[in-house]
This record gives sequence, C-alpha cells and structure tokens, in this order.
Amino acid sequence: MKTPDAPPNLPQPSNFIKNIINEDLRMGKNDGRVHTRFPPEPNGYLHIGHAKSICLNFGLANEYGGLCNLRFDDTNPSKEEVEFVESIQQDVKWLGFDWGDRMFYASDYFEELYQFAVKLIKAGKAYVCDLSSQEMKEYRGTLTEPGKESPYRNRSVEENLDLFERMRKGEFPDGSRVLRAKIDMASPNLNMRDPVLYRIMRATHHRTGDKWCIYPMYDYAHPLSDALEGITHSICTLEFEDHRPLYDWVIDNCLQDSRLKSRPQQIEFARLNLTNTIMSKRYLRQLVEEGYVSGWDDPRMPTISGLRRRGYTPEAIRDFCDRIGVAKSNSTVDIALLEHCIREDLNFKAPRVMAVLRPLKVVITNYPEDLVEEMEAENNPENPEMGSRKIPFSRVIYIEQEDFMENPPKKYFRLAPGQEVRLKHAYIIKCEEVIKDEETGEVIELHCTYDPATRSGADTSGRKVKGTIHWVSAAHALRAEVRLYEHLLLEGGGDEEEENSVWKAKLNPNSLVTLPNCLVEPGLAGAAPGSRYQFLRQGYFCADPDSTEEKLVFNRIVGLRDSWAKIEKA
Ligand code: ATP
Ligand code: MG
Repeated sequence: MKTPDAPPNLPQPSNFIKNIINEDLRMGKNDGRVHTRFPPEPNGYLHIGHAKSICLNFGLANEYGGLCNLRFDDTNPSKEEVEFVESIQQDVKWLGFDWGDRMFYASDYFEELYQFAVKLIKAGKAYVCDLSSQEMKEYRGTLTEPGKESPYRNRSVEENLDLFERMRKGEFPDGSRVLRAKIDMASPNLNMRDPVLYRIMRATHHRTGDKWCIYPMYDYAHPLSDALEGITHSICTLEFEDHRPLYDWVIDNCLQDSRLKSRPQQIEFARLNLTNTIMSKRYLRQLVEEGYVSGWDDPRMPTISGLRRRGYTPEAIRDFCDRIGVAKSNSTVDIALLEHCIREDLNFKAPRVMAVLRPLKVVITNYPEDLVEEMEAENNPENPEMGSRKIPFSRVIYIEQEDFMENPPKKYFRLAPGQEVRLKHAYIIKCEEVIKDEETGEVIELHCTYDPATRSGADTSGRKVKGTIHWVSAAHALRAEVRLYEHLLLEGGGDEEEENSVWKAKLNPNSLVTLPNCLVEPGLAGAAPGSRYQFLRQGYFCADPDSTEEKLVFNRIVGLRDSWAKIEKA
C-alpha cells in the first residue's frame, strides 16, 4: 500500500539535488535538459544501496522528462566479469527502470579517452612519469606538507607523446610508467597533486580483450564518459566530494573538443547504510566466496537478487528508497523501515493461507472417521476483492506446537488441558487428553472434541472463546520446507571501514533456520517460485526456486510484528 501522502503519480517532496536542477532549469543551463546515468562497476551484484542510486538517477530523469543511461564503469579489467554485467541489467529492469537504447560501457570510450590524453600532453597538461609507486607516494606529501615535483614533470611534449604511444604499444613493463596530469603538487587537495590518468596493466578485459595494456583511471574516465554521453548531472556518493575539483579539471581541459556534448556537474549525496547489514561489495563478495552464504542471491544478502529471492517486491524497494530521501551527510537507516515497506505492500497483495511450521498432531475424537468438510476461507480480509477459497477439514489435523501448553500461565488463550480454542475457519475444539512419548515425555498428540454448533460462518452456539489458532488437515496437507531468516549481522552495520575480524565476529549464527517438516494447506500445490503469501500468524513467505513437486520450499520474507510502525507512532 502506498502511503496516502505520497501516491505514485504526484511529485515526490523536493531535496537538495532537485533544488540544484530546478535552479539549472531556471537559468537555462544545459538547454533545459536533464540527463543522468547509473554507473555500476561490474565487479559484483547490485545491493540495496545501489537501488537508492538507481531510484534517484532514473527517478529524476522520469520526473523531469529527461533521460538516464546505464553505463558499466569497466575501466578496471582485473576484477570485472560478464556474470555481473548480466545480473546488473536484470536487477535494474526488475526494479522497474528502462535505459532505452542507452546502455554503454566506459570501455566503449577507450580510444577517445586515449585521444583526449594525447591532447592534454600536447597542451602541456600531462606527462609520463617513471617514478615507482613507492616513490610517487613519497613525493606526494601529506595533508600538512606539500608534495615534491617529479623529476619527470618537465619532459618535453615530444618525449611525452613518444613515451605515451610506446606505453600503449606495450614496450614497457606493467607499473613501470604512468601518465599523470600536470596540476599542482602543492595543492591542499591531495587529489590535485598530479594524479595518475593512465597505468600500464596487462590484463584481459571482458570486452576489449588484449587490445589495451594501458587503462585509464576512474577519475579521468568518469567525467569524460559523462560528457561524451551528454550527461548534465553526475550524481555520486559523498566519498567523491574531494575528487570534484579533479572532475572539473578534466572537463575544463577537454571541453573545447566538440565530441563532449555537455559540461556535466558532479553532485554528491550520502550513501545508504542499513543497520544489521553488510553493504560493502568487497565484504559481500567475501561472504559468497568464503561460503558464509549460498551465493549472491542467498535470501539473507542485501543484494537485489537476494531480496528478490527472499520475496521482496520492486514496489516495496522503490517505496523504501522514496522514504529514505537523499541527504548530504552520512547516516544509517534502520532496517525495520525496509521491512515495514514490504509488509505495507504485501498486506493488500498477499493471499492468507494456513501453514503449520512445527506440527503437533490433534485427533478430534467425536468427528466422524471419514467425513471431510470444505470450509470457506476468505483470501484477504484487507482486500475483499481477492475472494475466498475452500479448505478441507477432517478428523486428524495438525496445529502449531507452540499453540499448546500443558501448564499454561494465566491469560494463555490457546490450547491446554481442558481448555478451548477456535480453529480458524472451522470449529471450537476442547483439549481432552494429552498423549506423550513414553520414553521422552514429549507431547506427541492431543485428543480433542469439537462442538458441531460452532462452525465458522454458521455458528449457532453463541459461544465465545478468546483464542484462534491455525491448522491443516493431516490427510490433505502438503509437505514443505520453510526457511526462517534473521539479520546477517547481530549488531552494527554501516561502517565500511571495519576490519574483517570485526564484522565477521558480528555474523549472526542463527541467520538461517531451516524447518524441514512443515505442512501447508493443499491449495499451495504447485506454488510457482516467487509467489507470495501471508501464512496466518507467521509472516509473509515466498516460494523459493528450490521448490519441487515433491517438496515445496518457502522463504520467510518478514514476520508480522512491525517494529517500525511502533517507532512511527511513538
Ligand atoms: P561498494 O562500495 O559497495 O563496492 P561502489 O560504489 O564501488 O560500491 P559502484 O558499482 O561503483 O559500487 O556503484 C555504482 C553507483 O552506485 C555509484 O554511483 C555509487 O555511488 C552508487 N552506490 C554504491 N553504493 C551505494 C550506497 N550504499 N548508497 C547509495 N549509492 C550507492
Ligand atoms: Mg565504485
């Protein structure tokens, strides 16, 4: 359900980025165009933080009647894989966004980027430097001390052109030379102290193969890729704030070239951090590669593919991204808000069904042996249009183990010796006898009686009981495996700089609990992977791709108790 104050077709509230765009439009900047891009590096699967960036970039384009490109930032060949390129496209589409015919790769521009570098050399703005990386570090200076100029800084244009061309041809070993911008070794901004533009690296690129052995750096390739595509607003996360002068330097020094279609502006916003959640791609990759989870789409992962498999809807994720908004300082969002969003969405959409996760057998001793009654059950009390279904009731049923207590405390309104309870959509039953395992003393079966006058919808008894529990008919129920999840991290989350040992110590050992012997009502036969239900009293669940005809498998998306709604009310 959309909140009444933010229906999908009304403009979302303003934020500082929209204020900038509004001002640009007022001033007639960029000929009134708004053109953004989403630039993932294909070195992992997208996560919920990326969803924030996707919703922001595509959302702004939609709202202003502009365009948003998908661009793979594939300038770093050693880490990139085709698998990631494909998953990223799938995830952006699934979230509901469309890049039209504008899917690009930074590697599409390698030749142009090279030409721009040649121009910078010719203008005396770039030089080939032979310092080792260790020496470059020493020459760089610190925040309090200026750097020292490289002895290669004043090479002639001719020598630089010759060396750069030979770098490209592969005449020098990896790491032996770089191309650097000639800016200012005394700049208070370390990014401006003659930053590296190109490095030599013999690595096979997923698109250009072995054509190149020099690769451009992000800070050089990104602004030029933006301008080549005519991007007007280049939105990135806060850690690039200190890089903005370099972004502008690159653009300003190449702008006279007619291939650049815009003078893009970099705007930084706060990245999303979530409590109890690992967000860094590097650590997510570790979770996968070291076997802490079953894969990138493990339903505990904060990846889009993990959330999808868990049962999240694109609507809920977009709603979440709208609600968190965009800010200029970092903070951590409570994961309860994300969970609230999926509950709100599924409350109206998901049919209610009955499933028993930890079954306890109940024999209704006064119910005829071979009678089966079809009980009428509404599919969703929040949404009457979803209609109703019939569920079979018979003499032997299963209830939830936790709905019976042999020695209940006061105010326990479920089943106990001599106590009565209503079976949802069926009858009131009374517990007459408790059968135990002779050896272990464990309760294995209850014998109950029912009152035929209490049939739901046709109750002529006028009796009231306080508790209502769910059940399934033993002869008709289907077997299912149910996977219950808790947060991956017991505490913390959001601190990108944490050491391995720190976040690994916070991993929740109970993040996955598998219940192999659950029973669900027969209407769930053949539930297609991805179909979502509310299991009465247990939460929202989604059929997993592991489901088969023999055994259904469900993931719990989220329980029913909404801690966020409480926070909002308080
Ligand atoms: P990570 O730090 O997880 O490896 P990244 O920033 O290196 O992420 P990219 O593939 O480069 O990942 O990101 C693509 C886009 O998504 C960038 O514009 C980046 O700013 C944005 N982005 C990445 N993580 C977040 C986040 N947590 N919140 C908002 N935007 C994000
Ligand atoms: Mg990145």
